[in-house]
Amino acid sequence: MIIANWKMNGSKELIKDWMDFVSQNIEINQEKECILCPPTCYLYFTGTLIKQSYEGIKLGSQHCDSVLSAPLTGGTNSQMLEDAGCEFVIIGHSEQRVHLKESNQILSDKLKSSIGMNLKPIFCIGETLRQKEANQTNDILIQQLDAIPSNLLQKCIIAYEPVWAIGTGENAEISYIEEIHSFIKEELKNKSNSTNYISVVYGGSVNLDNCKEIYSSDKVDGLLIGGASLDSNTFTKIFNIS
Ligand code: PEP
Repeated sequence: MIIANWKMNGSKELIKDWMDFVSQNIEINQEKECILCPPTCYLYFTGTLIKQSYEGIKLGSQHCDSVLSAPLTGGTNSQMLEDAGCEFVIIGHSEQRVHLKESNQILSDKLKSSIGMNLKPIFCIGETLRQKEANQTNDILIQQLDAIPSNLLQKCIIAYEPVWAIGTGENAEISYIEEIHSFIKEELKNKSNSTNYISVVYGGSVNLDNCKEIYSSDKVDGLLIGGASLDSNTFTKIFNIS
């Protein structure tokens, strides 16, 4: 799966142009899903377009709140996301963890709420540079994975996103990605007590030059792409050569 995370970018016009170009030029197959995560205010618009004309593209949200009902100004719950046509939701992105000070309890509630609405969470985990340098990466990842109730693990996609690689132009080396993905996969196997497959995708400065090497690793099940996903031509090339 290749996931385009637009963050706080875009407009109706850009979304329409992007979907026109991407849907006509990507080679979609069952194994490789194309997921677009626009800003929340464009979800309904994008979901409607997908239903009308772009069925190859799937819709994901960058955010959801943890409860279905609360007097929360600015809140968006998972029922609203489902209503807008979302199939996926990003939970625990490092930018949101910092901005919203999300605890494991809040993240766990978000996971339960979104899975309850049949959304597939893309649960982001990753260490900061300081944690990496202090050899704390594995401990941090274990602690972050603890937010997922073990009976819901099979319903999640895990995105390994080293915080130091997000938006910096410095992707992790393939050997490092493989080492960490192997560690995550082993942890997931132990935690879920099952051999069912849980996808682990990589995110962090993926671009046209590094996507093929990263995606072709058998430890990597997909890519979560921020900056390089905004341009339809670049995204299409990444999708097709990965
Ligand atoms: C992201 O948005 O999760 C991300 C990985 O961004 P970028 O590809 O720009 O590093």
